[in-house]
Formats: sequence, structure tokens, C-alpha cells
Amino acid sequence: MSRTVYVNGDYLPEEEAKVSIFDRAFLMADGVYEVTSVLGGKLIDFDGHLKRLQRSLDELEIRNPLTQDEWLAIHRTLVAENGITDGLVYLQVTRGAPGDRDFAFPPADLPPTVVLFTQNKPGLAASPQAKVGIKVISIDDIRWGRRDIKTVQLLYPSMGKMMAKKAGCDDAWLVEDGAVTEGTSNNAYIVKGNKIITRQLSNDILHGITRAAVLRFAREAQMEVEERPFTIAEAQEADEAFVTSASTFVMPVVEIDGVKLGGGVPGKIAPRLREIYLDEMMKAAI
Ligand code: PMP
Repeated sequence: MSRTVYVNGDYLPEEEAKVSIFDRAFLMADGVYEVTSVLGGKLIDFDGHLKRLQRSLDELEIRNPLTQDEWLAIHRTLVAENGITDGLVYLQVTRGAPGDRDFAFPPADLPPTVVLFTQNKPGLAASPQAKVGIKVISIDDIRWGRRDIKTVQLLYPSMGKMMAKKAGCDDAWLVEDGAVTEGTSNNAYIVKGNKIITRQLSNDILHGITRAAVLRFAREAQMEVEERPFTIAEAQEADEAFVTSASTFVMPVVEIDGVKLGGGVPGKIAPRLREIYLDEMMKAAI
């Protein structure tokens, strides 16, 4: 069934939605995006995603073409028009489409390109994978140095996913200078006893919106949180591991480079954090 999508002010059937071949995102990956999950027809942590959108745009000096209320109205219209109960809303803002290709930025008054679309994912929160956990491999982190900006430059994460699939695994953890930065599309954590260890925020990783909420809930539940780098060897000896993202929430990791954690089944902490996260965020959804 054809989706209704949003492009530069218009709601259109997906086949009719078009952007220019000169769009800066198409030619130079000059754009940013956000993904907000929808559970029970409501948006999860919408404010968090909009705040990070603003930060990404500011870092790249791209104008935010819409107000918070306008963003919310578009999200809600697309959720309603596409009958989404559980799923995702994807938004993308690019530096726009000048009439030609040029490395220099176009004049600041060029309107940014805005695209939003939905993905229908019935039962998103009840993912069977969360019961069994995922297997990851480690690969070199060769991405650029501003991973804190959520750009549409996703080629290497996409290649990393393929490397994982070829190895019979689900995802890859990226390693730089001997330490894990993050997953291809999620933040990475290990658990030792009652302590959760995850890399501290910097330009090296995306400042996950799910990460912020999960660490807050972990602290509230009297778990200890240590924000520091860890190695693959340390992760392989941990009691548990997990990843977080807006689309997978909290997902247990049960194998790292062929080494099983906790007998190859999810432990206690990750499933508990998943439950708390989903409960609390669904209560606060808008
Ligand atoms: N790191 C990377 C590289 C990502 O792509 C994502 C998901 N977009 C995340 C972390 C998790 O961020 P969030 O919790 O905001 O989805």
C-alpha cells in the first residue's frame, strides 16, 4: 500500500514525492535526520529527537525551516494518514537544492529540503529478537570525526551491517584505538554486576536519545553507571551487553566476535531496562 509522505510542505503519495538531483544530500550527504518511534499511535521522546535535530542543524549551519509545533503536526498527520499504531517516523533536512553542483555552500537563504516518511512496524515493542538477543562482530571504526552530528552519511554503518550479516551475525560494534565507540546504528553497553558501562559522550559517538533516557532510568533504579571506553576483550568477559536505539529500544547482545556472554542468552539487567524504558516512555508519549 502506498504511503503518504511529506516533502517540502506537501503531503503526497510516495510515488509522487520528488526531490531535485541537485539536492545537497544526494550529491554530498549534506543533510541530517532523526528517527522517532511510534508506540500505540504516540510519539516516543519526540522532544529529545527535536532537540538533537536542532543541534545537528546548528553544527552544520543549516536553518531549521519549521517550528516545534509544525514538526509535531507533520509527525502526527503522517502517523494518522498512514494508520500507524507501532512504527517509525523518519525525518530528513538537507541544505537544499541549489541549481548546480558546487562544493561551496549555497546562499543561506536557499530553503532546506524537508522529507518525512513513516515505516509501519506492528508489534515493534514486542520484538521476538529482544527475547533471544543479537550477535555482533567488531570492525574498525573508519567513520569521520563528527559522529555526534546525525548526518545521512550512512555508507559505512550500512557496510558494517553487511559485514555482520556475512559473518552470520546481526550487527557490528565499531572499534577505534582499541575501544568500542558504538554500534552501526545504536549505542553500546556492557554490564558487570550492578554496573552499566558505556562510552562517554564526545564527538566520537552519536548522543543517543535512547541512551540518555536509559541511563537516567538505570540510575533511578539504583544501578551504577560508568561512562568510559571499554575494549572488546572486556566486553567478552562482561556479564551482559546490550545496545540502545530509538527503533530497537534496549536490545540484549549475547555474542561478541564468537564469544557467548552469559551462556548465550540475555541476562537480567538488559531485559529489565527494556521493560522500564518501554513502560516509562509509553507513559510520557505524545
Ligand atoms: N549511534 C548511532 C551511530 C546511530 O545511528 C543511532 C541511531 N540513530 C544511535 C547511536 C542511537 O541513537 P538513538 O537512541 O537516538 O536512536
